[in-house]
Amino acid sequence: MATADSSRRGESEDMTPEDIAAMKVLNQAYREMTPVGAKPYPSNPKNYNFLARPIPASRACRVCKLPGHQSSDINHANACRDAIISLIDFWWGVKNAISQLYGKRGRFYHVLNASVATYDMRRDETPKVNAKSVEETIVDRLVKNYLKFVSHCMGIKPKMHVVLRKREIEEFEDLCHRLNDLLLDGYSRRRSPC
Ligand SMILES: [Zn+2]
Repeated sequence: MATADSSRRGESEDMTPEDIAAMKVLNQAYREMTPVGAKPYPSNPKNYNFLARPIPASRACRVCKLPGHQSSDINHANACRDAIISLIDFWWGVKNAISQLYGKRGRFYHVLNASVATYDMRRDETPKVNAKSVEETIVDRLVKNYLKFVSHCMGIKPKMHVVLRKREIEEFEDLCHRLNDLLLDGYSRRRSPC
């Protein structure tokens, strides 16, 4: 028999170990986008978000525009390749974490559905958001940083086609489709929360 409790079960905030691990990934991603959580650029990057913070022009690679290395040209760009793959892997981790939490239809689900990206968010200059919850704060920062990621990749797309393999480009495009759905307003346009 349906009860008030059972009808609200879909919004349960009970956290499984997988949910907690996903929250950790998003918290860590958010933290690295703040000055206090900033990590130094790694020499052997793995899942590192090179766009977490503004990039000083003096530290941007002339080929891929990411910081932490300097390639001489597109034909000697192994460091660019490592940095770009690291950045893409970082966003795959975020995507998997969001998918995990989104599936629970809890607070993240509702925050993501309410989130509508605007062009201005791409500049990521807002010092803080008038957020009411941890989820809103994290989603706001992730959306802004994701738009920065997309914008950066669009700017170096021809170079990405040289540096990455065809399969890697396809995976990058797949990632963008999925994150567009999750972080921008794709889901809220196609589905209504029930
Ligand atoms: Zn580079």
